[in-house]
Amino acid sequence: MKILPLVWNVNLGRQQSPVNNHTDYSQQRLSLLKNPQNDVFERSSISFKGERPEDVPASRAPLEKLYKYHLTCLCCGREMIEPEEIQKLANSGVLRCNAPEAIEILNKYEGNMHSVEKEVFGILKENAKKYPDLNFQQILTLIKDEHEKPLIATQFGIFKMIEKASENINPELRKEIKELIEEEKQLILEGNNQFRRKRFVNKFEQILSGRKNSATKEHLIRLANKLPTAYEDKNAFIVKYSTKPADAIGIRLLSYSMCTIEHVRPKNPKTTNGENHLFNYIPECMRCNSFRQDRPMIQQLEEHPEMFFNAQRLMNRLVDFANRGKLSKWYIVKIQDRVKQESEGLLDLNIDSLNMSRKMRREYAKLQEDPVEPKFTVDDEMAELRAIYRPKTTADTTAETLDETNNKIYNKKRTSKNKNKNTEDTPKKKTNKELKREQIKKLHQAKYGNKKPETRRR
Ligand SMILES: [Zn+2]
Repeated sequence: MKILPLVWNVNLGRQQSPVNNHTDYSQQRLSLLKNPQNDVFERSSISFKGERPEDVPASRAPLEKLYKYHLTCLCCGREMIEPEEIQKLANSGVLRCNAPEAIEILNKYEGNMHSVEKEVFGILKENAKKYPDLNFQQILTLIKDEHEKPLIATQFGIFKMIEKASENINPELRKEIKELIEEEKQLILEGNNQFRRKRFVNKFEQILSGRKNSATKEHLIRLANKLPTAYEDKNAFIVKYSTKPADAIGIRLLSYSMCTIEHVRPKNPKTTNGENHLFNYIPECMRCNSFRQDRPMIQQLEEHPEMFFNAQRLMNRLVDFANRGKLSKWYIVKIQDRVKQESEGLLDLNIDSLNMSRKMRREYAKLQEDPVEPKFTVDDEMAELRAIYRPKTTADTTAETLDETNNKIYNKKRTSKNKNKNTEDTPKKKTNKELKREQIKKLHQAKYGNKKPETRRR
């Protein structure tokens, strides 16, 4: 994820520009919100006519240009905020003002906020009425105590559950866990925001790392992870951010709704090695992006089945942009296939409304026929096999499949000419599909031995 540098250098002093900017954006936003399917923009001057997949630049720029049209998140479906808008607000420091003014600026983003942020924003709004002379930080400090009480009760309750669940493990480990918990409890009670949930969970997992995997270990780790976070619990948010500057609090309410670029095939060199290419990029909000990390998309889908709806919604929008010349149509064809592959065939997005050329249609039909690649639980052996299975980048395969199509057309034209010259001794070139089948067979054999496929054949 990256935040775009600002192209303009407007001095967003508190008195002058924010009001103007504010109106500008909200007007643009309003028109879009009223008629989300009917985006107001003129047809792009860039022509994608006759473009081949290998001509499509790898850059994420075409997607970034769409940020301003308030795309919705692939996963959670929230309307996302353009990074530049957030950056401008951050640079200006305008949110350091008193809460009522800051609220006026942030009001138009309320619909973009994730649930905890929205809850906190509501609390800030309520309190801004009572204390109009305070800023966000001062309000959070004022109300911190009443939110810290339920938070501590939850935290201590979880510690209690951990201690109970660790009754059966060996006394040494148990002692270590008890000591760690006592330390952390102390930090919490001191009340200076010294307790760090992440640090505790890391230390806790470290203590357990020597122990062999078991149901108890899993249970303990699950319990530790139940400690409230600022992403999911308003009390944890308020306590954590009560020490942060007022503008940082305001920005934090927005930042997780920022539009970012997600790698559909994760960029993890150890396992999948998803490439940095437009054909592997899709817009997603910062929260969903950072929560997924580099886990496979199929896992994200399992955790968020609402993606079935939200991903299609985003895709409809992208198809619309492609039809209007704002995005390469090859992107749609390729990303449809990539999402399908990475979700193991489950997320088979409909792109029927894309106006495809004949060549594109052929390629799309071919991609649809391709078998969905199996995803194994990754251990070293499988990672190795996977490396064999995925030796090429998308660019390579794209070029290859295209060459093949071209060759086919070319050969068709030439067959009549060369009919007589054609010799039987030249072995027939294997198609991609055949190669893939062979690779799958190899993988299957490596995993299960020569069981089913062989016996069936004989
Ligand atoms: Zn999201």
